[in-house]
Amino acid sequence: MRDYVAPIQGDVQSSCMFEPPSIAENIRRVEKKLLAACQRAGRPEGEVKLMAVSKTHPAQAIADAAAAGVRLFGENRVQEFQQKSLELNGLGVHVAVGADGDSAVHVHLIGHLQSNKAARAAEIFTGVDTVDSLKLALRLDEAGDKLGRRLPVLLEIKVSEEAAKTGLEPASTELADLLERLPDLRHLQMRGLMTVAPLDDNPETARNCFRELCQLRERFAARYPGLDFGELSMGMSGDFEIAIEEGSTLVRIGTAIFGSRPKPA
Ligand SMILES: *Cc1c(COP(=O)(O)O)cnc(C)c1O
Repeated sequence: MRDYVAPIQGDVQSSCMFEPPSIAENIRRVEKKLLAACQRAGRPEGEVKLMAVSKTHPAQAIADAAAAGVRLFGENRVQEFQQKSLELNGLGVHVAVGADGDSAVHVHLIGHLQSNKAARAAEIFTGVDTVDSLKLALRLDEAGDKLGRRLPVLLEIKVSEEAAKTGLEPASTELADLLERLPDLRHLQMRGLMTVAPLDDNPETARNCFRELCQLRERFAARYPGLDFGELSMGMSGDFEIAIEEGSTLVRIGTAIFGSRPKPA
């Protein structure tokens, strides 16, 4: 079978002019940058995890990245991943849901989830990183109960003023309510916070956003000592090195690994 070939990218120096870089080569390049950013920031290597964001790319691309050593993937749509997870089984790649074995890959949902799809999401994803309402948290907890599993979750926080984005407002009563109730939602395993920085040519905009999430985490960790705020998911292809400098523990990389995606219609 022919490997999936990532579309050609802008920042390609090392590879031959006529061969697009393979997914494995892209992964090595990203890992190198990740390591260098950790060193610059004086952080131990291994403190920052790499998530490969495979949305819009075929199951074969996930299989190739898994073969190159990636163990954590991000997908943004329930329906799209449902189809792909079936194809992945055919490719011999198994997705860890609940207490599955170590050989499996982990796939987290990183896109907005409607509460009416919570049950399906809890069935097919290892975890949900975009809990952005109390209602969704309650639905996911219910789904976890039915499935007999504890679902790892992150709360998505909207730290920038950009209007079109999802996420809980840092000072909202909804977020405060959710944090109060999380210890009782026994089928959710609270792991931390995530955010998406606004698209902006100025990298300092992203830096401010990441810094704010990091400070928020400190405040919440002090106020809610019973909850785990260990994970700080922030940083994408264009800004992950800044995110690492600002305390990210998990970077979500799509384009730099799989190539560019078709533009949304
Ligand atoms: C698509 C997506 C990414 C990956 O973005 P790239 O710029 O391609 O690395 C990361 N996080 C979220 C939430 C996404 O939707």
